[in-house]
Amino acid sequence: MNLQRELKERFGYSSFREGQEEIIHSVLNQQDTVAMLPTGTGKSLCYQLPGYLMDGHVLIISPLLSLMQDQVEQMKVMGEKRVIALNSFLPYMERRSALEQLHLYKFIFISPEMLMNRGVISSLQSLDISLYVIDEAHCISQWGPDFRPDYLKLGELKELLRNPTTIALTATATKEVREDIKQVLQMSRAVEMVYSVDRANIGLFVHSVSGQNEKLNTLLECVRAWDGPGIVYFSSKRMAEEVALWLSEKGVSGVAHYHGGMEQEERILIQQQFLSGKLRMICATSAFGMGVNKENIRFVIHFHFPSSIEAFLQEIGRAGRDGVSSVSVVLYSEQDLSLPLQLIESELPEDVQIRGFIDDGRKGQSKELIEQLQLTEVQYRFLTYYTDELTRGMPFDQDRLIEKVKQIRDNRLQYKKEKLYSMIHWLQAITCRREKLLHYFDEKMDRDHPFCCDICGDSLHDFKTKPFVLNTQDAGDITWEKRLENLLLG
Ligand code: ADP
Repeated sequence: MNLQRELKERFGYSSFREGQEEIIHSVLNQQDTVAMLPTGTGKSLCYQLPGYLMDGHVLIISPLLSLMQDQVEQMKVMGEKRVIALNSFLPYMERRSALEQLHLYKFIFISPEMLMNRGVISSLQSLDISLYVIDEAHCISQWGPDFRPDYLKLGELKELLRNPTTIALTATATKEVREDIKQVLQMSRAVEMVYSVDRANIGLFVHSVSGQNEKLNTLLECVRAWDGPGIVYFSSKRMAEEVALWLSEKGVSGVAHYHGGMEQEERILIQQQFLSGKLRMICATSAFGMGVNKENIRFVIHFHFPSSIEAFLQEIGRAGRDGVSSVSVVLYSEQDLSLPLQLIESELPEDVQIRGFIDDGRKGQSKELIEQLQLTEVQYRFLTYYTDELTRGMPFDQDRLIEKVKQIRDNRLQYKKEKLYSMIHWLQAITCRREKLLHYFDEKMDRDHPFCCDICGDSLHDFKTKPFVLNTQDAGDITWEKRLENLLLG
């Protein structure tokens, strides 16, 4: 089979990017595969192209609604009509009719939550699924960034679907996480195809500051010197909003904020404006970015650093997808050290919450109980999953159950703390930052980088961006007064 020709005819690309062809071969040979390719290099092609060349359907598990919608839209734009996204966005009636007609779709995207529905599973079982795809597969790991128990069931589903060829795709998974992925998906013999996580065109900088004021001023200096587009990451929604406002007041144009606390419509609008060049900078929390396929992002600045190297790599990986020189800057102050620790701790349930939840006999799981114990969504998922798992099929002594859940919580906390400490060590590094980053993923640095990192002696002052012209052309953004004026002026 001439893969090169298929690539050209179906996608219009003249060559494969590093790793794609090998991964596609592996899948076409019906080999279960764990593939790791850096963000933005084209993981989608690794299941889309083989999908076309296989007879049956392709089932894609995708962790994030916005990402899924995005991928489906992109495939439609490429002319593929037989593609559908099954998720909670789909109104009930449409979902029902889609399930009845599932055989008409070649590519079926689905959120893990939907797979908990028996009706969905039996519809899928009636199909011949030839390729089972797990996107952003690092989320599968029990140590994934968010606690997503639905993912842990994906192995069972593979069996229910009569073990189709499986491909797990990720941009950031350590060896340990890759092992976990294989275990959850029950594919111990899967081949691993791991490509360098190095993004050679992104310079890595950590800039130490003595406190908040110096941090703000450095940020202002950077965004005045560089036109963008760029993203500034914060770990607090409030700070993202306040700093965006502050920058605007300082005369920086085209800045907006984005975080998970905003209305869905507002978030979509901001994302669209950024993609189409009507905004040049977003002050955001980590809620922003997955599925944002913007090629020319020139800088990613961390006002607050993330709590793991994996998250850091995902976030800076949004820069420079066009291959043009770009920069990652972490503004780092000693005072920042306690914040991520608090965030990690607040993600998991406290002792009183564990006891309250279990004492309630879980007859509750009611809104009142969630409110009374002030459980977040992640804490609630954690408690529900583990109490279910531990008591499955047998009565469990209440006190023992509480102790067991606490122990699981403590292990998870410890693991997260270790991830955080690795991140902090990286920030405090005294040898090449790139080498250290690669080392974390068991890689060696095997090429020279002209613009590497602050420790290698590179300077942020040498980083320049081309002038960025804000796109103001869309009539949708013009006020009605302006439109009327245009109309009157003919
Ligand atoms: P990610 O690895 O982040 O999932 P995507 O699959 O979304 O990346 O691909 C990123 C971009 O690269 C897309 O715009 C896609 O069309 C493009 N792309 C993928 N493969 C190739 C290729 N072989 N040649 C040129 N462009 C490609």
